[in-house]
Amino acid sequence: MTDADAGRAAFARYRELMAAHGFRPSRRFGQNFLLEPALHRAIADAVEVGPSDLVVEVGPGLGFLTRELARRAGQVIAVEIDPRLARILSGELREMPGGDRVRLLVRDVLGKGGVLAPEVEEAVASARAAMPSGGRLLVVANLPYAVTGPFLAALVQAGFGPPDAMSLLVQWEFAERVAAPSGGEAHGGPSALLQAGYRVDVVRRVGREVFRPRPQVDSAIVRLRARDGVPFQAWSAETRSRFARFVRALFAARRKTLRHGLERAEKELGVPFRVGEELARQRAEQLGADAIVEVFLGGVAPGPDAADGPGLA
Ligand code: SAM
Repeated sequence: MTDADAGRAAFARYRELMAAHGFRPSRRFGQNFLLEPALHRAIADAVEVGPSDLVVEVGPGLGFLTRELARRAGQVIAVEIDPRLARILSGELREMPGGDRVRLLVRDVLGKGGVLAPEVEEAVASARAAMPSGGRLLVVANLPYAVTGPFLAALVQAGFGPPDAMSLLVQWEFAERVAAPSGGEAHGGPSALLQAGYRVDVVRRVGREVFRPRPQVDSAIVRLRARDGVPFQAWSAETRSRFARFVRALFAARRKTLRHGLERAEKELGVPFRVGEELARQRAEQLGADAIVEVFLGGVAPGPDAADGPGLA
């Protein structure tokens, strides 16, 4: 089947499912379905999803991307907030190749207080512990726009540890921001937080016309690959959580100097952070993720596990 035929077949299936279930997409849940099998492949290809990988998908929706993941991955944990979609998807999973390797959790991926839902944490932690050696934890999703930032901030702090790689379809502007190098306007809190642990790149732009219903904005596939040997990757969940709060404090007032941000971080985290005069006069976005990690780690005299970061005593 050509890509054009596959696209037409996906669109026909979408209309069939909509009609059969009387389903109307919810704007609140960001339900813009991606109906291009070539793009589902591109999203999975970006992180080379393979048979020993555990994949977490947020918002499987009608299961178009899930189909590609189920076919390739060792296991998929799919988290869907909308029970109407979950009912349709359960039927789809029964007939899709590899559908029996998909565990569907019907709930909000986010819990209270900026963390992942405990049920999601537990499911991923136990599946990760049981993974074959050499297997990776991947996050692959067409994320609802409103959930992208909160989900990534929560993911960074997860008890099961940082994923090995992610391939995410996100709003174009968000992709530009997380991939932006330090020094420019686009570099902000999410860029610093994620670049501390990941190499981030925009794989390709995706026009709004390939979604149903059509959103108001374009999207992009953004890829994050874990950086070897950086402190972030070895930190405990608690240190990653403190680092997230530190970064938020530094970027809370974009136009102000680092000195101002560090005072805020001290109030937030209860430990002083000291830097030289010259650095203190710069703005947070000029620093870059690695320099921010250095300032964070230099915050107090390191404890017994220096690599684990400051202020844990
Ligand atoms: N993966 C499907 C696709 O590519 O066609 C659907 C993607 S659609 C952009 C976003 C999906 O995320 C929807 O299925 C929506 O119901 C779900 N969703 C929205 N907020 C969510 C949340 N907080 N937790 C879990 N799923 C959520």
